[in-house]
Amino acid sequence: MARYLESKCKLCRRENEKLFLKGEKCFTDKCAIERRNYPPGQHGQKKGRLSDYGVQLREKQKLRRIYGLLEKQFRNLYKQADKQKGITGDNLLIMLESRLDNIVYIMGFGSSRAEARQIVKHNAVRVNGRRVNTPSYSVKPGDLIELDNKAKEHIRSKSSILAAESRGFPTWIEMDVKGMKGLYKNKPDRIDLPSTINESLVVELYSK
Ligand code: SF4
Repeated sequence: MARYLESKCKLCRRENEKLFLKGEKCFTDKCAIERRNYPPGQHGQKKGRLSDYGVQLREKQKLRRIYGLLEKQFRNLYKQADKQKGITGDNLLIMLESRLDNIVYIMGFGSSRAEARQIVKHNAVRVNGRRVNTPSYSVKPGDLIELDNKAKEHIRSKSSILAAESRGFPTWIEMDVKGMKGLYKNKPDRIDLPSTINESLVVELYSK
């Protein structure tokens, strides 16, 4: 699968916002946004007004980059969200949050979504006791997610879970930190998800 190989911090600077793409570094003063909060490139510091289309495009790129999806994957997810009952933007966010790689990240098994994706691909995650190695796998309420015994021994996994615990887990996840497993209790409500995301702009963009 194609992957984005350039500096992840540049993506945050492009969006003028922390997208939390580099694990623990994002929570330190080494974060590039803390140091240089302007878009990368020769003209990065010039201020210009974005058109409505530009604003919608930036919001879509931001959301896509947070979850690490390619354009085609993101658009397919949007189409599925649009077919479901309810508000398309909410559906889209809930589908993104319910991806296995995201849940593994939220539970702290990986320090970033990219690392969580690697952990899933390397067969280290079980869903209800069954090995699942598809990052896009849609986790359902009531599913129990855990690392396999070998991965539970990794110091990196342990420190990552402890760091996630210190920041606090969302209410829709029930974590057993010692057992290194967590229950996806229920789908999050919109209010549980970041208020910095304006998903209606993404809907406006794709509805054209
Ligand atoms: Fe973004 Fe993290 Fe880099 Fe900061 S450290 S710019 S939040 S990827």
